[in-house]
Amino acid sequence: MMIKTNFLIIGSGAAGLTLAVKLGEAFPKKRITVVTKAHQAESNTKYAQGGVAAVFNLKEDSFQKHIEDTLIAGDGLCDREVVEMVVRDGPNRLKELIEWGANFDVDPGGNLNLGREGGHSEYRVIHHKDSTGNEIERTLLARVEHLQNVSLLPHHFAIDLITEHHFSDKKIENLSCYGAYVLDQVSGSVIAIKAESTTLASGGMGMVYGHTTNPVVATGDGVAMAYRAKARIRNMEFIQFHPTALYDGKYGASFLISEAVRGFGAFLRNRKGERFMLDYDERGELASRDIVARGIDFELKNSGEDSVFLDCTHLNIVEFIDHFPNIYKTCIVNNIDISKDWIPVVPASHYMCGGVVVDTEGKTSINNLYACGECSYTGLHGANRLASNSLLEALVYADRIYLNHCKKTPSRTTKLVPNWDDCGMEILKSSKVIQKNTSELQSLMRKYAGVVRTTEGLQEASILLEKLYNETEVLYQTYKLNTALSELRNMINISYLIIEQSLNRHENRGGFYNESIN
Ligand SMILES: Cc1cc2nc3c(=O)[nH]c(=O)nc-3n(C[C@H](O)[C@H](O)[C@H](O)COP(=O)(O)OP(=O)(O)OC[C@H]3O[C@@H](n4cnc5c(N)ncnc54)[C@H](O)[C@@H]3O)c2cc1C
Repeated sequence: MMIKTNFLIIGSGAAGLTLAVKLGEAFPKKRITVVTKAHQAESNTKYAQGGVAAVFNLKEDSFQKHIEDTLIAGDGLCDREVVEMVVRDGPNRLKELIEWGANFDVDPGGNLNLGREGGHSEYRVIHHKDSTGNEIERTLLARVEHLQNVSLLPHHFAIDLITEHHFSDKKIENLSCYGAYVLDQVSGSVIAIKAESTTLASGGMGMVYGHTTNPVVATGDGVAMAYRAKARIRNMEFIQFHPTALYDGKYGASFLISEAVRGFGAFLRNRKGERFMLDYDERGELASRDIVARGIDFELKNSGEDSVFLDCTHLNIVEFIDHFPNIYKTCIVNNIDISKDWIPVVPASHYMCGGVVVDTEGKTSINNLYACGECSYTGLHGANRLASNSLLEALVYADRIYLNHCKKTPSRTTKLVPNWDDCGMEILKSSKVIQKNTSELQSLMRKYAGVVRTTEGLQEASILLEKLYNETEVLYQTYKLNTALSELRNMINISYLIIEQSLNRHENRGGFYNESIN
């Protein structure tokens, strides 16, 4: 089966939906198709708590200060030109979202209520209570719904990008993208969606580590597809880990216990009750995210325990509930009464700083293929992302890609795109082997490619990964594709990129820490 569209967007988070709205409004005669692998709202965007960083208070704050804060967080590896462009464009993009109906918190005078987060020297985080991402997602979905020329297809899983590899035996230097093969997850059939331009807006990869603040859709599909299509991928060694995710004894998407709880006075303790963070940094629990995550990682590896604990028992519980109603409630649901019990926490993968390399117009190294948001590498984050800069990046680059389409609208191709051919392939009846391989993969990534790595461990991971890769390729060649098999294949590709790019980095910077280097 084949569908023809003008512009194909893969993903319905902040990046994909912002682009869909802009292209839909600017090109009423063109068809925009957005495919998304779960319910249309499911995305990292939906779970963003803090907000979006942008300079609105020009009395206290300045673009220069936001630029400097971003460069400091990125530890020397940001692209200054990109940082300047993104920071300066931030307020325009936020104003646009507000025009589209986003409700951000305001003070009694009607001015935006600006929050402050770790690494920011000023108050500049625009937010909607502690559920900013959900508000952005709501606004964008409502806007898309009114656009007749935008088709939003939930439960449609993009499998692979269509490039010359699919219809030519010749070795092509200058590759182009002609759309994507997409699995209709309800019918089980694979559709070839032919498009003049394709944008990857497929978000992050937290599930590669099993324990993550990301939802289950975050399996790095876009980066894996781009890698297989031979696009340039960079900085995959820089994975940001959030130090304190609730540990419930299981692996999977887990609840974030915000930094603000440590800011409120909570202590980190090991099972013996020791306040260990003071051994790692004089700021104790209030050291930067990567230092706290590393302190916890050392503690867990030394003790062999599964988690450390956040102790809030000495705090004013009434005030705590007032500040953190959601955290309080979630702990109660997990049988943790924070007035008496310590909260078990572990570091969890949170954000992918690297991705598909794009220029300042969102173009990848493959013609007619763009990437936007968390799956892209723009040069903004360098070795570590500054809090609340990622939604900002998604909004700014969606606009850049839209402007690029206005400047030179991609033209229709005459190339004959072949249909997906899985005739004669068997249906995989049991998912046991996929589950087993997925959990083996996640466990090896936690053990060898987590917060603290060693060269020896990464080399060991590389060997173990090859075994999983070979086993999974056999499944892929033998059976009809399904979502779980495709995600496993993608997560193996992502793990390969993280491990190889970690081995190729010879100095510790930002969020990357290899003990063997020091
Ligand atoms: C708990 C949490 C809190 C956060 N807090 C903040 C914050 O306060 N401020 C901030 O700036 N950032 C925050 N972030 C990061 C931020 O939310 C993300 O980086 C950002 O939302 C990414 O947007 P995106 O559109 O690129 O990707 P996403 O919002 O993740 O959207 C990706 C979309 O692609 C779809 N998709 C993926 N693979 C496929 C496929 N194969 N086929 C079809 N569809 C696919 C997904 O289903 C989803 O719809 C937070 C993240 C988390 C997890």
